[in-house]
Amino acid sequence: MGGFFGTVAKASCVTDLFYGTDYNSHLGTKRGGLATYDAEEGMFARSIHNLESTYFRTKFEDELDKFKGNAGIGIISDTDPQPIIINSHLGRFAIVTVAKIVNLEEIEAELLSKNMHFAELSSGNTNQTELISLLIIQGRNFVEGIENVFRRVKGSCSMLLLSEDGSIIAARDKWGRTPIVIGRKDGAYAATSESSSFPNLDYEIDRYLGPGEIVRMTADGVEQLRKPEEKMQICSFLWVYYGFPTSCYEGRNVEEVRFTSGLKMGQKDASQVDCACGIPDSGVGMALGYAEGKGVPYHRAISKYTPTWPRSFTPSKQEMRSLVAKMKLIPNRAMLKDKRVLFCDDSIVRGTQLRDNVKVLYEYGAKEVHIRIACPPLIYACPFVGFTASKSPLELITRRIIAELEGDPDKNLEKYATTGSPEYEKMVSIIAERFGLTSLKFNTLETLVEAIGLPKCKVCTHCFDGSSCF
Ligand code: SF4
Repeated sequence: MGGFFGTVAKASCVTDLFYGTDYNSHLGTKRGGLATYDAEEGMFARSIHNLESTYFRTKFEDELDKFKGNAGIGIISDTDPQPIIINSHLGRFAIVTVAKIVNLEEIEAELLSKNMHFAELSSGNTNQTELISLLIIQGRNFVEGIENVFRRVKGSCSMLLLSEDGSIIAARDKWGRTPIVIGRKDGAYAATSESSSFPNLDYEIDRYLGPGEIVRMTADGVEQLRKPEEKMQICSFLWVYYGFPTSCYEGRNVEEVRFTSGLKMGQKDASQVDCACGIPDSGVGMALGYAEGKGVPYHRAISKYTPTWPRSFTPSKQEMRSLVAKMKLIPNRAMLKDKRVLFCDDSIVRGTQLRDNVKVLYEYGAKEVHIRIACPPLIYACPFVGFTASKSPLELITRRIIAELEGDPDKNLEKYATTGSPEYEKMVSIIAERFGLTSLKFNTLETLVEAIGLPKCKVCTHCFDGSSCF
């Protein structure tokens, strides 16, 4: 997915920019980048590093001296190298995006046919942030250009632009699929994907940008350039999986939502278990809620080796993902032996990690293994936010089972997506059987949406029920 941070201050922005961007590290694993604008020298400074083998702070801390100025933007990117800096009839500007462009090839062909060109081909493909900047400069001003992006891009796109007047323009995706939160403190404003960037940098949440809203930030305040749209489709998976526990979107805190969904599930679950445990990190909040709702103790029967696996690191290659998943979690025989353990996890995508985890739990003495999942089964691939874990529907365990049962992975999807239908029950029982689970239950869509606390029509739930605004 990716996450960004931008700040504009009366004094140097560099420290806040460095840490604020770093606090988005759980959202991407490919590239990190920073850009600042020094108004005295009239110069941009930029740096981009590969994050596939190490962390953002390690890569950037030795070169912070090169960044100067009161305004800057930073990105943890799951896709292309960013920020891009371009010179145009709108002036020079740096841009970072959190985007997924489904129709990239179509837009690219159109821009090339208009004699435009792409220069940022370092990763071998067209850089989607560069493509977005080319769409922007087709406008007579930034707002018109960003509206052009909103009109043309299928998928999603939120962005921050650092312009040479020293201000930052923040524009949230037109359907609000990805968030932007504005923070303020004495002498500075900031915009970020994750509000967990704010507390340690002393920012207070000022506002949540609405879908399609565009604002200009200076050190003195925030000016609205475009009103938000009424309709919203914020990604519900932000609360389930992507988000850091202390983050809030639309005023709803990630940990609270996870806790509430676990609580509700625990209150109505008839299973007999000795304890509830969470698969670190995203299953922990739900497990704490489940334990309270069910009236059983919360135990840490698996711990994450935090000294060297401090964040949710998801490499793009399957073998590496499996190795990382195995290495970072350590089972605890003392807490597992002869117990009926119930584990909460965020979701099941391919099922590979769950299968490996369950095998280890039995090997370490668990008598029964029950699994509870924070969301409904993932039936549809995500076309909107670059959910890297499910590039193709056929990678989903649900679709592979549907293919086996129906002879066609696309058949009767609505039935399999309906909790309690015979097809749904069959699919869930096959997953449980394949992994040797004593029991397996997924949260219902209603409970998840209730825990999020927004009206269903404002939340994207496409990957669970196929609903869509297009
Ligand atoms: S399809 Fe799923 S992952 Fe994609 S935006 Fe919607 S809820 Fe989020």
